[in-house]
Amino acid sequence: MDLTNRVFEFADDIGPEKIVHLYEPRSQTKAIVVIDNVAAGPALGGVRMALDVTTTEVVRLSRSMTYKNIMAGLPHGGGKSGIIADPKTVNKEHVIRTFARGINSLTDYIPGPDMGTDETSMAYVYDETGRAAGLPRELGGIPLDEIGATAYGTAVCADIAQEYINLDLNGARLTIEGFGNVGKPAARFFAERGAILVGASDSNGTIYNKNGLDVDDLIRIKETTGSVTNYKDGEVLESTDLLMISTDIFLPAARPDVINEGNSDVIDAGLIIEAANIPITEKAEKILHDRGILVIPDFIANAGGVITASVEYHGGTETQAFDRIKYSISRNTKEILDKVYSENTYPRDTAVSIAKQRVLRAMKYREWI
Ligand code: NAD
Repeated sequence: MDLTNRVFEFADDIGPEKIVHLYEPRSQTKAIVVIDNVAAGPALGGVRMALDVTTTEVVRLSRSMTYKNIMAGLPHGGGKSGIIADPKTVNKEHVIRTFARGINSLTDYIPGPDMGTDETSMAYVYDETGRAAGLPRELGGIPLDEIGATAYGTAVCADIAQEYINLDLNGARLTIEGFGNVGKPAARFFAERGAILVGASDSNGTIYNKNGLDVDDLIRIKETTGSVTNYKDGEVLESTDLLMISTDIFLPAARPDVINEGNSDVIDAGLIIEAANIPITEKAEKILHDRGILVIPDFIANAGGVITASVEYHGGTETQAFDRIKYSISRNTKEILDKVYSENTYPRDTAVSIAKQRVLRAMKYREWI
């Protein structure tokens, strides 16, 4: 099957509206931009830079942004882009500026940071196009990773979810896969609620102590040595061993599809909050739910970053961003879990159905349907 047929496999009654491939011959910069749906407003979504980013991945992520933005009540549709390059080796400023010039005419897309790009990248995009969110503080930005915006949202989500299952965050065991921009501040926000971090992983391995890891110390070790495995008061295991640790709350905050049909039966947790994008396959989410493990879908739980980007774009403050994250994520988590437990449905099915109805309503307001 050729590429055209493959990407249109994902097309349905709401999008994607535009799939654009960019190529700049001089520097051979290659990029993909997908604008999924702009009924609620110009599409807001991150720019991912990775050697292996694909069109189908960007199509899937752009739909996720449509749902995330409409659920958060933002005046934005969903989009995403991918620059096919290695962020560690490339001349980043040149590639980002080239990309930005390429998207200048796509005025219904507002880029933000994602894996492989950051606030500095957005400063270059802003300089070229006048459109970007997730800017440095000096340009009026709210540094969403520095303030732990996404991490804060996952803790807010847990505040609500605990009321639906027999769980008290105070004293609950917590494990975190991926100790990066989301994982580290999440450990702090959960510690403030009394949770005990018993395991954390990164690409080098897992650190485990059933009596608890000192969160501040672990963050310091990760930042100064590059890996959680250099923390002294704990057992060092393989990265994948984190999934075997018995826990009350598990926060996947790194890779896609980390829990799948092959390992969903070994997970021993009460609550899983999807901090990463697509960390669990849809089939595995259902298996976990049937086993009594509550899984909060990514586009509900990890909206803190895009909410902050939107607040920034519309001239708001850091305090307003935190208030908005709390309000939107609490309200959405409640709405979904009320339905899940009263109608006996799966969390993702419920969340997608609510999000899609909202997109269709927004399309109706525009007289598109
Ligand atoms: P990051 O690069 O700062 O951190 C990722 C962490 O995962 C690193 O500590 C890395 O060592 C670790 N890791 C890599 N491979 C691993 C493996 N095999 N096992 C265990 N750990 C591994 O990235 P981030 O910004 O924290 O984003 C993490 C996830 O959250 C991504 O899926 C991202 O799309 C999603 N997300 C991030 C934000 C945000 O605000 N940063 C917002 C929404 C969603």
